[in-house]
Amino acid sequence: MISIRTSNLHRIPVQNEVLILGGGVAGCAAAIALARKGKSVTLIEREPAPRHKVCGEFLSGEALEDLHALGIDVTSLGAVPIDYVRLAAARRAAEAPLPFPAASLTRKALDAALIAEGIAVGVRVERGRSVQALGRTASNVWQATLDDGTVYEAPTAFLATGKHDLRSHVRPKDPQRWVAFKMYFRLAPAQAAELERASELMLYPGGYGGIQPVEGGIANLCCVVQQRHLARAGHRWENFLAKMQQDCPHLAMRLAGAEPLFARPIAITHIPYGYVRRTTEDGLYCIGDQAAVIPSFTGDGISIALHTARCAAAAYLAAEPAPLFQAKLRSALLAQMRLAEFAADGLNNSLARAALPFCLRVWPGVMRVTASLTRVAQHAAVAPQAVAS
Ligand SMILES: Cc1cc2nc3c(=O)[nH]c(=O)nc-3n(C[C@H](O)[C@H](O)[C@H](O)COP(=O)(O)OP(=O)(O)OC[C@H]3O[C@@H](n4cnc5c(N)ncnc54)[C@H](O)[C@@H]3O)c2cc1C
Repeated sequence: MISIRTSNLHRIPVQNEVLILGGGVAGCAAAIALARKGKSVTLIEREPAPRHKVCGEFLSGEALEDLHALGIDVTSLGAVPIDYVRLAAARRAAEAPLPFPAASLTRKALDAALIAEGIAVGVRVERGRSVQALGRTASNVWQATLDDGTVYEAPTAFLATGKHDLRSHVRPKDPQRWVAFKMYFRLAPAQAAELERASELMLYPGGYGGIQPVEGGIANLCCVVQQRHLARAGHRWENFLAKMQQDCPHLAMRLAGAEPLFARPIAITHIPYGYVRRTTEDGLYCIGDQAAVIPSFTGDGISIALHTARCAAAAYLAAEPAPLFQAKLRSALLAQMRLAEFAADGLNNSLARAALPFCLRVWPGVMRVTASLTRVAQHAAVAPQAVAS
């Protein structure tokens, strides 16, 4: 028996088996998987409605497979197919076909569809309510305290708050102090036609950015930069955008005549790229960005969020203890994560930046191999192991 206790100590008994903190990709995916298996699940999401999030909005082949299995039809949501990846640095650009099917879809549309599917399969969704603290009672019950003082309790909790840490569950700091921006543009018709079905990765000192079409005939420019490089642009978006275009004329070409669709870009800081969670407490399954944060250029974060959610749900259903699940997940993710970090360091190196597009022109296979190796495709590697109680 699980209970909700309100701040005035009025107890409202409910039958929850699992509490899910955070209703983004990972939280919704886990909630749907568990509810479909008949579990009573409450999901707490701090935003009252889906909103734009800083994300390149690239959906890899694995992400598309997982979304399909969850009942999400990205095509009907307007997802744009992506067949090519183009790499641009300095004055050079190179293109290669992607070795897997891919698409792009705004996070607003994706998150809305996932929450709706959760509700449809019986997840109790509490929106517009933020978890302030997560702790455990002496009898091993998880307690999530919300901003209005309500306390939700359950024997099992899934931590899926993405880039936001709860006070008692903080991930390590991001030493590079990354800052990320997302801005939508309506491109000039000729540039929109050039970008059709392509995801373009642009390299510049201190970071990289991607531009690709999303539904509604618009383009998403999503970029990351180390704070010390942003400081050189006076911490101002306008200056940074101008500097990116100066360093990468390909971007200047794409944005010529483009209309920005927000007054200001959406921004986030503190992105602990390369983080892979080592341990967790019993009964707390950590998923999505709370489990691992892959460098953004791979376009694989959503896939990892879906994958970790699926594996954690399977582990819970098989009575595999959370610490064992988390250790297995870590060893399954570590190789891809380190390779992606190594590649990200390469993108940030001025010599590599200058040479890469030229190399790719003569050997586009490099891009295909890199794309494949930085995928997290270890579907069987985290098969749950029940532990006798
Ligand atoms: C610059 C950048 C570009 C990226 N581009 C791509 C890309 O193109 N393709 C790709 O696959 N991945 C990309 N990613 C990664 C991807 O966005 C994340 O890996 C993915 O969103 C993680 O999913 P999640 O469910 O863990 O977190 P989220 O989707 O962020 O969901 C977390 C949810 O928890 C909620 N929440 C947070 N705190 C609380 C709280 N206290 N109480 C209640 N709710 C809370 C939030 O409101 C949010 O809805 C990118 C990341 C960055 C930084």
